[in-house]
Amino acid sequence: MSDTTILRRRFALVPLLAALSTALWAGGCGGDNDKGPLPGAEPASTACQVVTDSGTVTVGSGLPGDPSLPEPSSGYRLGKQAVAAKTFMVVTANPLATKAGCDVLAAGGSAADAAVAVQMVLGLVEPQSSGLGGGMFVVHYDAASKTVQTYDGRETAPSGATENYLRWVSDANQTAPLPNARASGRSIGTPGTVSVLEMLHGEHGSLPWSGLFDAGIGYAANGFAISGRMAEAIAGARANLLRDPDAVSYFLKADLTPKLLGETIQNPAYADTLRAIASGGASAFYTGPIAADIVAEINRTEAGSDAPGALTPGATTLADLAGYEAKRRAPVCIDYRAHQVCGMGPPSSGGIAVAQSLGILENFGLNAFGPTALDGEGGKPSVMGVHLISEAQRLAYADRNKYVADTDFVPLPGNGVSTLIDKAYLRDRANLISFSTSMGVAQPGVFAGMGALGSSAQEGKGTSHVSIIDAKGNAVSMTTTIESGMGAYRFVRGFLLNNELTDFSSAPSDVNGPIANRVEPLKRPRSSMAPTVVLKRNADGSAGELAMVTGSPGGAAIIQFVTKTVVAALDWGLNAQQATSLANFGSSNSATTGIGGEHPNILATDNGNGDALVTGLRSMGHTVSVSAQSSGVSTILRVPVDGQTRLQGGADPRREGLALGD
Ligand code: GLU
Repeated sequence: MSDTTILRRRFALVPLLAALSTALWAGGCGGDNDKGPLPGAEPASTACQVVTDSGTVTVGSGLPGDPSLPEPSSGYRLGKQAVAAKTFMVVTANPLATKAGCDVLAAGGSAADAAVAVQMVLGLVEPQSSGLGGGMFVVHYDAASKTVQTYDGRETAPSGATENYLRWVSDANQTAPLPNARASGRSIGTPGTVSVLEMLHGEHGSLPWSGLFDAGIGYAANGFAISGRMAEAIAGARANLLRDPDAVSYFLKADLTPKLLGETIQNPAYADTLRAIASGGASAFYTGPIAADIVAEINRTEAGSDAPGALTPGATTLADLAGYEAKRRAPVCIDYRAHQVCGMGPPSSGGIAVAQSLGILENFGLNAFGPTALDGEGGKPSVMGVHLISEAQRLAYADRNKYVADTDFVPLPGNGVSTLIDKAYLRDRANLISFSTSMGVAQPGVFAGMGALGSSAQEGKGTSHVSIIDAKGNAVSMTTTIESGMGAYRFVRGFLLNNELTDFSSAPSDVNGPIANRVEPLKRPRSSMAPTVVLKRNADGSAGELAMVTGSPGGAAIIQFVTKTVVAALDWGLNAQQATSLANFGSSNSATTGIGGEHPNILATDNGNGDALVTGLRSMGHTVSVSAQSSGVSTILRVPVDGQTRLQGGADPRREGLALGD
């Protein structure tokens, strides 16, 4: 028997789950490759299926062509095509999560309903990136009122945190937390995911909350096949997972080797946790036995017998959990040519930095500098296009690194967001860009009344992005995270705890002064997450129809991934898949400009010396890195097809994602 046959047989168990989940919802979701006009009404038998060259396939069926069949994770999957849908669509980084959201939409659920169902599955099948133990930001578009709202479910520092919480055991013992800040209790913020989803559902849900957990409970109780990226994450984190007996029994085998690609894994503890939240709401998570276990884990002081050693405890208390509050924040919106681009304000820097980048770029005729040799992968970025965009980003990151933090604690310059995204200010910043030479490292803008401030830049790379449009035209753009892959490596009741507090600056000040993003009690660490929705602008300048939903994981580079995707769609006319696939590029304001060397249209061998884009940028003074860039962009565009508005989805070929719709 070939290896493939063995794998296929093993996965034959998985269809039971698919049948279970399909039976839970009436209606259907059919993805349809973007090869021509949309078909008319589809027969009911195509419910939640993908269209392949040899027919339609149910996601989760385990049959050939099923996108949920585990494959070794590759840096880049060639040949992905845009998916078309009539009225609703979900794009996530995992096929089973996409299917769960699609089923909810097909049953008449709202984008907010689908977001809850998607998160509950993602936390199981992509536990390394997001989950109940983490946090998120959500941008919601309400079609009836044409309004954008943003929700902050960011993790918070405990009330007992000090400004040296991440770097010293205590003021009396100025040694580093053990075994290091990330894997100690110090990195773990009070999770926000459950609270913010309850808030979102309370304001925009249409189906009962308790029903939105069924797919997650089903997969957790009955098992699912470990995906390529999950297997890679387990293998990479093995040594750290050994410090937690619960993580050992879930992620490792009896001989302490990592569980492998394609193995079926069950998570009954997660199923129980979901049942508790389904029936008891967020308070079942933030108070009672689940909260007690989270607090106990954060305060644990000894590693398990498999990796003996001391753990520095965090300061999180039951009161911190019980007191957690998701927050409504004002969206950050900027007019960009014929559109309005809206995103997340502080404590994320994502919305401001994307808006600043676009506001600077509006001063250039970017449409003349689009990709050449356009193909399904987005073509080849042009030298001038990458130069202008990366220079705009240098200027945006300079402001971000210095000024942006949790505005409940640290004010922004001037009048706040409006000062930083003011068009006249951004025009002045654009004037700093040369057409011939890179500026290298940009200086932050100077604002009256701001004292001396230090600067902080760091962030990790875990996270997932979800884009949803429902049949009524409402949209959710949700970036969800536990910060680094596998978070703090602590596993409680079936989910991992985040290490989000390492997004704070561990040093409270530098030679220039206090750092805006320093740790303070109950403060939220600055993020780069940039969930985004784009609206068309009416002739009178007011916000019109929804045009685009996008976002990405990727740590501080999220700002670059999102800017690239928005410019590719709006300025260069790329479709949802091309804009998502297009080579990543940009700068976070070091001398280095990154060009994603994993992309098939970038020649990364010999340090890019044979690649005309790379050499062109070097001749303009850019220091170019061709390291792979692990984005995870999920994009939906609303596009005209035969006189009607249809949906077009793209999932990042660098991950395992899938777009599905009706
Ligand atoms: N923790 C990061 C942030 O909030 C995201 C990490 C990632 O995307 O990998 O910006």
